[in-house]
Amino acid sequence: MRYTVVERDDDLSRSLTEQFHRLVQGHGLIADEHEPDIVLSIGGDGTMLQAFQQYAKQLNRIAFVGIHTGHLGFFADWKPDEIERLAEMMRLQAAGGEIPVVMYPVLEIQIVTEAGMETNLALNEFTLKGVEHTLVAQLNINDEMFEMFRGDGICISTPMGSTAYNKSLGGAMVHPSLEAIQVAEIASINNRVYRTLGSSVILPKHHHCDIYPRTKQHMLLSLDHLYVQRGDVVSIRCRVAPDIKVRFARFRPFPFWSRVREAFIATN
Ligand code: NAP
Repeated sequence: MRYTVVERDDDLSRSLTEQFHRLVQGHGLIADEHEPDIVLSIGGDGTMLQAFQQYAKQLNRIAFVGIHTGHLGFFADWKPDEIERLAEMMRLQAAGGEIPVVMYPVLEIQIVTEAGMETNLALNEFTLKGVEHTLVAQLNINDEMFEMFRGDGICISTPMGSTAYNKSLGGAMVHPSLEAIQVAEIASINNRVYRTLGSSVILPKHHHCDIYPRTKQHMLLSLDHLYVQRGDVVSIRCRVAPDIKVRFARFRPFPFWSRVREAFIATN
């Protein structure tokens, strides 16, 4: 079994990476950063986003697993003092077992420009915002005009990303077993010309939304932790990625609602 590690740039994450390599060396696990079967993220949720984007073209093969070196991570099941146990579990899998995985939906984003179409995947969300002015864009759902948006921006998240930026926007927490995406407004302006729903909407797998920004509008686009400014976007289609899911190695149960409670409610 081939594995690689994506680590956060801090002393603890670096030393855990070295320890992990030592623990699995000579036990059927081969370090391979090009075509790994398992990608271990050591750091925070931001590190897992980095790992996901780095290996987004190999999602059908790879299982991700995370050790969190900060506070509780939504994507990371393991604490630093459990690294020996995790290494042992992975050694056992390498010795013949199948990797136990859970699979969650991801967001597909198709960006159309005059030059063609680009397709990307997001683990958390995709956002678009105005740069020099407020964002002006028409939002269609299933090819029918839904609303004319004017405001700071629009955030389209996955169920796994519903606990991230989407939560700050007042969006709902969505269990990741639901194949859906959530469209949330970022500070919309409402008047007689621009009228939006004012609450987020959740679209099932067989629905899609299209965003048509005002022509040649400069926008800041984000894909998880990555940001880019564009002035050439004609339209953007978002939907649940139809044929691909993200796979997380799940060596023990850690229910989603327990994560939500521990991250946002529990005080002990
Ligand atoms: P960052 O600004 O350094 O960190 C954003 C925070 O969001 C970190 O505390 C991160 O956890 C946490 N986070 C990431 N994914 C999460 C998830 N699925 N559920 C709950 N918390 C999550 O940026 P970054 O580390 O590069 O991460 C990019 C993410 O930041 C974006 O995908 C977006 O969701 C989020 N973001 C949030 C806001 C907001 O809430 N107003 C604004 C911009 C971006 P760790 O500390 O464990 O890494």
